[in-house]
Amino acid sequence: MSDRLVLVINCGSSSLKFALLGEHHSSPLLSGLAERLGTPEGILNWKAGDIREQVPIADGRHSSAMTSLLPLIERFAPQPLTAVGHRIVHGGEHFTGARIIDDDVIAAISQSAPLAPLHNPAQLTGINEARQVFADIPHIAIFDTAFHQTMPPHAYRYALPEELYSEHGVRRYGFHGTSHRYVSTQASLLMGMEPGHGAWLTAHLGNGCSTCAILDGRSLDTSMGMTPLEGLVMGTRSGDVDPNLHSHLARNLGWDLERIDHMLNRESGLLGLSGGLSNDMRTLVAARADGHPGATLAVDVFCYRLARSLAGLAVALPRIDGVVFTGGIGENSPLVRELTVRHLALFGLAIDPAANATPPGNPARQIQAGNSPAILVIPTDEERQITDECLALLDFNANQPVEQETD
Ligand code: AMP
Repeated sequence: MSDRLVLVINCGSSSLKFALLGEHHSSPLLSGLAERLGTPEGILNWKAGDIREQVPIADGRHSSAMTSLLPLIERFAPQPLTAVGHRIVHGGEHFTGARIIDDDVIAAISQSAPLAPLHNPAQLTGINEARQVFADIPHIAIFDTAFHQTMPPHAYRYALPEELYSEHGVRRYGFHGTSHRYVSTQASLLMGMEPGHGAWLTAHLGNGCSTCAILDGRSLDTSMGMTPLEGLVMGTRSGDVDPNLHSHLARNLGWDLERIDHMLNRESGLLGLSGGLSNDMRTLVAARADGHPGATLAVDVFCYRLARSLAGLAVALPRIDGVVFTGGIGENSPLVRELTVRHLALFGLAIDPAANATPPGNPARQIQAGNSPAILVIPTDEERQITDECLALLDFNANQPVEQETD
């Protein structure tokens, strides 16, 4: 069986994450992360099976990091690459699915840059560098926002003057779409349903956190908004606050926008609630067990606000086939799952404590008790989802009838 290969790239302003996936391989053939780009300490860490190595990127350039992938791919790819898949954070309203990258797609990603100023410009750099290094194969963009383009206007509009939406694109877009799509498909498979079917509430809980209501493979609502700051408590992001907080801080403390932006995105969330102890849930769970008041509060607020978000999103669904936990916290923290589901007893949700304990290997599994609707722990795999979407797009294009010339 031929095994088509996709190189998945996620380019940040100072990092380049990559993974080489085979169509029929369950885990990546090669993966790695170049960090501290833009500095003389640029470094690429990669692994392939049991082999792990470091390569310095002395000039710290994205182009050098991209070029250093070439010999690795030659070494570990059993055949030539089929495509390169690029994770793009913001596709605005332009993109409802994967797209082959051409000049129009690049222009549309640039147009969405004001909505994701930290991410889209860096990802355009990644696209440009990768198209030079991996020429002559299709490059495909996969957007975090695309999955949520099925949300109805009553879910995506803010109650703001109309022209802010129609002229400036101010609306809710949602993010983590690749992960929500992947775990909801896996949930249907785990529950023996037709792939992609079912009514799911999904919680992606990593450094960034979001929830989603999904019916038969379509996102109907999600917790993140115009930017990834809206919604849940996250590692260092506040999630929802009173919008008047900005003017309050400006008028009373004299803070400028930069300062407020930094506080809400970098100093808040679990880090802020815990009094600066940590943004890492592992540290907080351990400190909570030792009675640390800040860690206790941070975990409690995180779980309550998560439950409140899931309960709110339930109104988008006709029924609940299951709740799915994923991401570093969702997959690995029995405490977070337990405290969250305790707030959702109204929905008949209850956890089986033994099933909730994290087993070795952390497989996808059911953890509900008795008659509760399904509660699932499903490890996310965004690289796999991106690979599948790239190959599906290539197959779709290959099966399109060739247009007949008319004269
Ligand atoms: P992600 O962005 O999906 O890689 O998730 C990263 C986050 O997962 C980290 O910041 C940790 O807070 C969290 N995490 C990872 N392992 C555990 C664990 N065993 N218990 C609690 N949280 C965890």
